[in-house]
Amino acid sequence: MSESPDQQPDFLAQRRAMIFDHIHQRGLRDQRLLAAFEAVPRELFVPDHLRAAAYEDRPLPIGHGQTISQPYIVAYMTAQLDPLQDARVLEVGTGSGYQAAILAASGAHVYTIERIAELSAQAQERLRTLHLDGDVHFVVGDGSVGLLHHAPFERIIVTAAAARVPPPLIEQLADNGILIAPVGAESVQTIVRVVRTGRRTIETPLLGCRFVRLIGQEGARSSDAE
Ligand code: SAH
Repeated sequence: MSESPDQQPDFLAQRRAMIFDHIHQRGLRDQRLLAAFEAVPRELFVPDHLRAAAYEDRPLPIGHGQTISQPYIVAYMTAQLDPLQDARVLEVGTGSGYQAAILAASGAHVYTIERIAELSAQAQERLRTLHLDGDVHFVVGDGSVGLLHHAPFERIIVTAAAARVPPPLIEQLADNGILIAPVGAESVQTIVRVVRTGRRTIETPLLGCRFVRLIGQEGARSSDAE
């Protein structure tokens, strides 16, 4: 961009307005959650030509047919995983890395898996620039089968939608763990929460949503979605 410094948009002011209008005003008021959102400059997680739209109340394209989720949805899912301090968390679908950055800023030990190597590399670079990568492990692969090698996880967050919660992910959930995932058809989905107690799991539907498809062994075939 050819803007001089004094014409740069005030992203911090936009970020604070986004936190207040789209997150706090919709009832998510936990101070640690809001602090994590203030710590992560969302404009760095979208393509350059979309920076001016980074704080709008909607998802944005990030290339490869994928999206960075709407800020409120990121906040809502993150709030469902509380408490995150020192928790071992698996994220399926690194995408831009924004959700991983919010998890890291919330004090979690993060494993994030992405099937598109270029998105993973870009996400890694962003978190390194922000010094948020200290406790984030980036993996390229099919996250629909989880990350058996590093299981169990106290928290699992899936940010791509499948017809059902992939059974391997439930198996990799620690006792008293919480998993949150969008589930449903291509056009209409519901965010569900799965809580595991011993061998027992309780699945609760929470909120309507629309995510890109989870591709892979426990998701859709890649020809269905690309
Ligand atoms: N959490 C992301 C948004 C992710 S969009 C963010 O904060 O920006 C969903 C992502 O899931 C896409 O990048 C897509 O490539 C990825 N994905 C889809 N199926 C996957 C799979 N089986 N394993 C890993 N990543 C997958």
